[in-house]
Amino acid sequence: MTDFYALKQQIVETAQALVHKGYLMATGGNISLRVVGQNAFVITPSNYDYLKMTPDDVCVLDFDLNVIEGELKPSVESAMHGAVYQVRKDVNAIVHTHQVYTSALTLIKAPIPALFDEQSRFLGRSVDIIPYAPSGTSLLKNAVAKHVKNHNNAFMMQNHGALIFGHDMERAVHNVEILEKCSLAYLLAICSEKKISKIPLAVREIAFAKLRQDQKKVERGEKATGGE
Ligand code: 13P
Ligand code: ZN
Repeated sequence: MTDFYALKQQIVETAQALVHKGYLMATGGNISLRVVGQNAFVITPSNYDYLKMTPDDVCVLDFDLNVIEGELKPSVESAMHGAVYQVRKDVNAIVHTHQVYTSALTLIKAPIPALFDEQSRFLGRSVDIIPYAPSGTSLLKNAVAKHVKNHNNAFMMQNHGALIFGHDMERAVHNVEILEKCSLAYLLAICSEKKISKIPLAVREIAFAKLRQDQKKVERGEKATGGE
């Protein structure tokens, strides 16, 4: 058993849980965890059935994308994950999905404004659209690296899917679920063609300030509260 085994196991368990909940379909999407204290991360292999995956199938890469461990081809989005870990020191877990309702919003290029308290608290001020670039390209990696500097924890990639962060994997998975709920509610509200109300700006800013406090704690190596 290697030093990375526990992280690899967490990747497999999370990927399979996300398949069962309907957020990951077929082999779409990819998930990763930072190896804290090293310039490295563990990531799902490319185009590989999540339900067949075992910890030995998970790849370990350094930030130059050299393979530290793993026999299988790493995810085509490895450079994107590595770039996020370098830009966002508060992020220790990344989930990229093709979840359906969020994907629908990417097709109409509709960023999600601050609609709910828990959205601002955990996802950030808004869920923005990252302009289209083909999957697995440095164009996409560069666009992502630029957009994630705004400290939000959820993004939409145009005509593609969702990109979600957390200080740990449990938080990232909760954020996936919050994002899909917000996306469905927003889509239904858009379909009603009625005026869509947002939460008050002051409430959004207070919630976002709590998220920023958590992020700064993680950057200092302290535990995030993850609470109210
Ligand atoms: P991988 O199977 O290579 O991770 O690619 C899936 C995907 O979602 C590409 O954006
Ligand atoms: Zn994808």
